[in-house]
Amino acid sequence: MIKQNLHTHSTYCDGKDRIEEMVQTAIEKGFTVLGFSGHGPCLVDEVAMKESDLPNYIKDILEAKEKYKDQIQIFLGIEEDISQRIPSKEPYDFVIGSKHFMFIKNQVKNVDYSKEMAQEIVELYDGDFLKYAKDYYEDLKNIANYPEVDIVGHLDLLMKFNEDESFLSFTDPTYLSYAKDCIDVLIKAGKIFEVNTGAISRGYRTKPYPHQTLLAYIQEKGGKILLNSDCHNRVNLDCYYKESMELIKQCGFKTMMTLTTEGFKEVPIDRFTV
Ligand SMILES: [Zn+2]
Ligand SMILES: [Zn+2]
Repeated sequence: MIKQNLHTHSTYCDGKDRIEEMVQTAIEKGFTVLGFSGHGPCLVDEVAMKESDLPNYIKDILEAKEKYKDQIQIFLGIEEDISQRIPSKEPYDFVIGSKHFMFIKNQVKNVDYSKEMAQEIVELYDGDFLKYAKDYYEDLKNIANYPEVDIVGHLDLLMKFNEDESFLSFTDPTYLSYAKDCIDVLIKAGKIFEVNTGAISRGYRTKPYPHQTLLAYIQEKGGKILLNSDCHNRVNLDCYYKESMELIKQCGFKTMMTLTTEGFKEVPIDRFTV
């Protein structure tokens, strides 16, 4: 059986735990595959790793990989912000491509930060959330042309502070057309989508990204997925995994992707445990 998380932060960026602590918790929780994905260097992101952090980040992970190789498979990855791509896929086993920032009217705003900041972004789009969504998904499509990216991070992150739908209905037809258009382009490019439970553990949302409507669309269009916890605190390493697996099955998925030493493989869903 496979229990996997490929979206893991540590004290090298905005996570609470050291690499080895995270590995030990993963083993305790029965994980068989753990991938680290520290925030890659990004000028506009103060919590991202610096270039000078990378040698130690890589060293710690490779040491843990060797030390715990009989108990768990560890992979070296990185979460690159699409505004600042990593210079080369080497030495990473996998790359998550994510959009965390909006660049609008000479301002930089963090999509992930707070409801207040989400409101500020909407105001920069003349109070029109749909304009915001259009720009967000247009930019996210660029990942299709980024060969280094394997996994699209938290697809609909812009809805993080919209649990109560105060910005927009999750099923607004215009909104869905933008998101689906982006999904089509990313599926065609062979990108994997993550079902990401990170906002649940931090109390912002009660359901994972992407919204069920979009997840069902990904399934309908033959898109590939995997389940990640976007872990910033080891107690949440498998937060909402059980419920998310139910959701994934409800959406009709029969397989999920797993990372192996030979790369990503598609595996029947009943081989995964939570
Ligand atoms: Zn992210
Ligand atoms: Zn992350």
